[in-house]
Amino acid sequence: LFISFEGIDGSGKSTQAKRLAQSLRDAGHDVVLTREPGGSEGAELIRKLVLEGDPDRWSAETEILLFTAARRDHLEKLIRPALAAGQIVITDRFADSTRMYQGLSRGDLRAQVDALHDLMIEIEPDLTVIVDLDPATGLARALGRGGTEERFEGFGEDLQRRMRAGFLALAEAEPRCTVVSGDRSPDEVAADILSRVAARLEQ
Ligand code: C5P
Repeated sequence: LFISFEGIDGSGKSTQAKRLAQSLRDAGHDVVLTREPGGSEGAELIRKLVLEGDPDRWSAETEILLFTAARRDHLEKLIRPALAAGQIVITDRFADSTRMYQGLSRGDLRAQVDALHDLMIEIEPDLTVIVDLDPATGLARALGRGGTEERFEGFGEDLQRRMRAGFLALAEAEPRCTVVSGDRSPDEVAADILSRVAARLEQ
């Protein structure tokens, strides 16, 4: 089973991905928890290239190529082998992040993102958990956390708002997506997600 977590910055998806991995391990499942951009040695190098240093170094188009290259390496080196070995793979972000961030951030590049995905990635998760949160709340959380890789300030609240709408529209269009409200205690969100994943595992 291949599960992705998606959502705007500060939505709590990384915390929830970790908690789900732990709950599934406790239940005896063999779980690989990973993240994007990154997740494999090569992809982590690309992550550094994109997220560190001058944010204007790459054009939006080049960024799409770099994120897709990172995803391809992640897929070859980690995701496909783990799925082939029967493990549950949980990834903190996957292709939907590129559809939203690179697809919406600087002009409408969604068609290019989709074309590259079809050509080089193809696979979609079996289940995508979209942790939904109001961008103002997400912004406050993300800034409070203050990571050096945080690009939130550059992106701004308006873009986060469009991305939230984009994730919700995606969820409407894609049956693999399930939306959970992130505006609750971490325990409540985790329990909600676990029950949805358990239902999926029983199918
Ligand atoms: O999910 P995480 O916090 O690790 O993401 C790191 C940063 O990369 C975030 O600030 C996010 O906005 C950005 N990002 C991006 N394009 C993606 C995925 C993440 O700009 N496709």
